[in-house]
Amino acid sequence: MERVIIIGSGPAGLTAALYAARANLAPLLFAGYQYGGQLMFTTEVENFPGFPGGVLGPELMERFRAQAESFGTVFENVDVTQVDFTAPPFRVWAGERVFEAETVIVATGASARWLGVPGEERLRGRGVSTCATCDGAFFKNKRIVVAGGGDSAMEEALFLTRFGESVTVLHRRDALRASKIMADRALAHPKISFRFETAVEEVRGGETLETLVLRDTRTDVRSELAADALFVAIGHDPNTAIFEGQLELDPMRYIVSHDGVRTSIPGIFVAGDVYDIRYKQAITAAGMGCRASLEAERYLEAREGERNASALALAR
Ligand code: NAP
Repeated sequence: MERVIIIGSGPAGLTAALYAARANLAPLLFAGYQYGGQLMFTTEVENFPGFPGGVLGPELMERFRAQAESFGTVFENVDVTQVDFTAPPFRVWAGERVFEAETVIVATGASARWLGVPGEERLRGRGVSTCATCDGAFFKNKRIVVAGGGDSAMEEALFLTRFGESVTVLHRRDALRASKIMADRALAHPKISFRFETAVEEVRGGETLETLVLRDTRTDVRSELAADALFVAIGHDPNTAIFEGQLELDPMRYIVSHDGVRTSIPGIFVAGDVYDIRYKQAITAAGMGCRASLEAERYLEAREGERNASALALAR
């Protein structure tokens, strides 16, 4: 049986692994087929302390992983498919294989949201994307559209100016949600134009994206916009499907925790964006990973103490 299983390989999971590994707990970390979390889809990260010149998201995650690995974290690059948290030992399935652990740290993060409009799914990878870093370079000198009004949308739009002939940001309201610094940068960029109070109603095209059907959210008047690429940047949903019925989830399906580290089940801890709807930063996720690992360590010590005490009582 494992002492600690960690599910997730973003900043939260990898920081939890680093601390658990340095505490000699030899954590087993399920990294998923696509390891590294959301920073793998980011370009320059300018707000992670310790990197005054910025660092690329994937490079930062490589560094996190190498550090966790150097102290003995064991990685399984597969997705967890099922869990049983009814009572210790907790069980975690990866396909046909089942693993047991005394404690589990859940750090499965969140995934990009889609608009859910007709044509979007069919044209994914054919002009429709949620990852500018991955797909931006395919659209050199093309007409690029970004949907969303938060920091992600601003970041994507700014990055895409490297490639696009034009970048148009569509936002459903009249005011951006993005932080002032990001909004100001995007608003001031000569290649970026904004269309407020505009929603995407449909995505049309043959082999690839050709046209977006738009709706004015005040008047409901519809119009068309020719586009070669649509980058959807409208936020994220927590990756909690496998924890349904096992852990308490809130109405938005984030894991409920009263102190940001313990879950509804003793011995199961949480860290990062799968819990954190408010901050969602790499540095806050890493901090939570650290806390979760320290709490898991304390939980294991307490259990060991209880076991020793009852063994002593039996011996007497
Ligand atoms: P977000 O702040 O939740 O913004 C999502 C945006 O998408 C909002 O403008 C929202 O519109 C819009 N939206 C949501 N669902 C929609 C739908 N179905 N159709 C059309 N539009 C929709 O998400 P985010 O931009 O991903 O940012 C998440 C967090 O990460 C934030 O805390 C942000 O500060 C942080 N972040 C920081 C950076 C950075 O500092 N470099 C970069 C990326 C993200 P409404 O405004 O109308 O709700």
